[in-house]
Amino acid sequence: MGMKMPKVMGCSVENCAYNADKNCHAMAITVGEPAGDPSCDTFFTAEQHGGVMDMTAGVGACKLADCKFNKDYECSASGISVGMQQGQPDCMTFEAN
Ligand code: SF4
Repeated sequence: MGMKMPKVMGCSVENCAYNADKNCHAMAITVGEPAGDPSCDTFFTAEQHGGVMDMTAGVGACKLADCKFNKDYECSASGISVGMQQGQPDCMTFEAN
């Protein structure tokens, strides 16, 4: 059975360039750098916000092999949420194996 790309159901990191109204408008994000942290690698700040406004980001890749949703470095959760944790944008859906 094919895998479906999970969506970023919400992101509270409003200063990220891809964020509008607490939703992520990148086409896809990557989770998992620096190693061992479930942080959003796609986060960055810029003067203007970008992304595709009529799209909600998918989780294109996740490097957290120790998350229970991770299958061969892809995310198998039905959706994730992202939020600020200890000063970094983290996947809040991460659950250690
Ligand atoms: S999920 Fe990541 S890339 Fe998307 S708005 Fe939040 S911090 Fe930015």
